[in-house]
Amino acid sequence: MSRALVLNASFEPLCVVSTRRALILVLDSKAEVVHETGGYFHSERSAFPEPSVVRLCQYIRVAYQARVALNRRAIFARDGHRCQYCGGTAESIDHVIPRSRGGPHSWDNVVAACRPCNSRKQDRLLHETTFTLRRTPTAPRGRAWILAASGAVRPDWEPYLGVSGTLSA
Ligand SMILES: [Zn+2]
Repeated sequence: MSRALVLNASFEPLCVVSTRRALILVLDSKAEVVHETGGYFHSERSAFPEPSVVRLCQYIRVAYQARVALNRRAIFARDGHRCQYCGGTAESIDHVIPRSRGGPHSWDNVVAACRPCNSRKQDRLLHETTFTLRRTPTAPRGRAWILAASGAVRPDWEPYLGVSGTLSA
């Protein structure tokens, strides 16, 4: 499913929705198209350009910073798809304090890891191994992370995100 970036009336990024949902916002006069994907939605009588970026007509107050859901894609995005022990390509998720030793499934206890590190570490605590973390894991903050966790960022979204290159920092 294609996705579209929704901007606030102030051009700040708000969220990512399906392009179909973005088109409905436009047809309902709730948003205007800023960029198009080049594709089209076809109805019986007409064709509508598929939106890539839309901007809300009315400013929406964002009262709180949404939390980033803890899932595999978001963890890989936070850790730049790098094993947090050796820097290799991450293929799995490791609990720093193993679940079997009471470690929680939380942002500060999960890291991206390659399979060799993950299997060599086993159910041991860090101080029982020679492993060290390249970076202390924390919950990602900021809208850029929310967007990163939502999947691929289209090139025409980048000017609005202002995050090019910072997603893996
Ligand atoms: Zn590794």
